[in-house]
Amino acid sequence: MSTVRVSNVIFSNKQLKPYSTSAVMWVVEHPIIAIKNWPQRSRGMTTVVKSTGCWKCGNLLNGDKELFFCGCGVIQPPSREINYFELMDIETNFEVDAKQLHNKFRRLQSFLHPDKFTLKSKQEKEFSEEQSSLVNKAFNTLQKPLSRGLYMLKLHGFSIEGENHMDSEFLMDMMELNESVEDANTLKALKTIVQANAIIMSDIFQQLSAAFEERQFESAKMLLKKAKYYASVDEKIKEKQSIFLT
Ligand code: ZN
Repeated sequence: MSTVRVSNVIFSNKQLKPYSTSAVMWVVEHPIIAIKNWPQRSRGMTTVVKSTGCWKCGNLLNGDKELFFCGCGVIQPPSREINYFELMDIETNFEVDAKQLHNKFRRLQSFLHPDKFTLKSKQEKEFSEEQSSLVNKAFNTLQKPLSRGLYMLKLHGFSIEGENHMDSEFLMDMMELNESVEDANTLKALKTIVQANAIIMSDIFQQLSAAFEERQFESAKMLLKKAKYYASVDEKIKEKQSIFLT
């Protein structure tokens, strides 16, 4: 892998215009995103991106190498076929390196953010807004384990929508937990509950990671339902904390 190969792709294009420097720079700074071999995309959970033409110059785009910009330097509309993990160029895996994800997010936004397109055409501005908001959405979804887990479940064709059945023991635990939140009358008491919840959720997410690894999607569903309950308790605590703080 070398940036030279990418540069060749870009510079061999006769339609290269002076303003395409940003695209060239983008490719040079993102060799991993840019040079990922297209056929390799079909492995595992990944999707094969169809090659379409650049809306501006008409050249056939390589779905992977030219995911955001055509070789002519012009921003493209977001691909509807890739998943959030692919968009952020990270492994489609429940275990995510938070720092790496954040870095990818910042780098992508440094090229796609509408602020970079103030002098470009209306169409380019629109595509930058679409790309940028898609990257935001992908980042927000993948950043938190609950939304990431729900998204992964969806990628595997499962959902917890409309599935409300929980075992009675768990529901009893939740009732007790909700009561303890209602009874907590100090910030310290709330903080103690938050800390206890964090430990339980961390355990749930560890089990969830193993469930995805072993493709046990029914277990993953049950764990995500539990995590959702704990997340809603956390929300309640946050609301209560904000009342104490005002
Ligand atoms: Zn083009």
